[in-house]
Amino acid sequence: MLNSKKEQIVKEMLLAIGEDPNRAGLKETPKRIVKMWNEIFNGYDIKTKPHITTFPNKTDGIEYDQMIIDTGYFYSHCEHHGVPFFGKYYFAYIPNKKIMGLSKVSRIIDYFSAKLQIQERLVKDIVDEIEKALKPKGIALVMKARHLCKEMRGVKKIDGEMITSDTRGAFRENLSTREEFLNVIKI
Ligand code: ZN
Repeated sequence: MLNSKKEQIVKEMLLAIGEDPNRAGLKETPKRIVKMWNEIFNGYDIKTKPHITTFPNKTDGIEYDQMIIDTGYFYSHCEHHGVPFFGKYYFAYIPNKKIMGLSKVSRIIDYFSAKLQIQERLVKDIVDEIEKALKPKGIALVMKARHLCKEMRGVKKIDGEMITSDTRGAFRENLSTREEFLNVIKI
């Protein structure tokens, strides 16, 4: 859709909530919102999907067979209310034949977060994508998030976070691996 058309839609949204889109303070707002949309909703554009570069899991003849963990933050929007949910992620995998650069984890998470989502599907989308590229011995992702649709409207519950997880391979089958992961991330 053309940016000019999107800006028109924002103006109509402003009208719909009771604003005057022509007042001075709001003049540039549709432009700014559209520019932001193009950034934070780029998860609909398959061309922006990061490619997962993998490397052989062998350096100087040594294969790494332990857990590799990455943690960070993510921001998404709930598909029921269109407001943000955001929080921390805890990702881990045990490599098989391939390893990946960890910066790719956060880029994949950003990509799948950049659209209307539900947290349950988000963990699965991310794990599916990384599992496909790495075929690891095990993979796990836990996401812990605040949902603004729960905090700023309706029940106004600010004291809760939603936790979703997806564990596969060794993280599902091997109790000590699972415990080691949960111990390290401490949630
Ligand atoms: Zn919601």
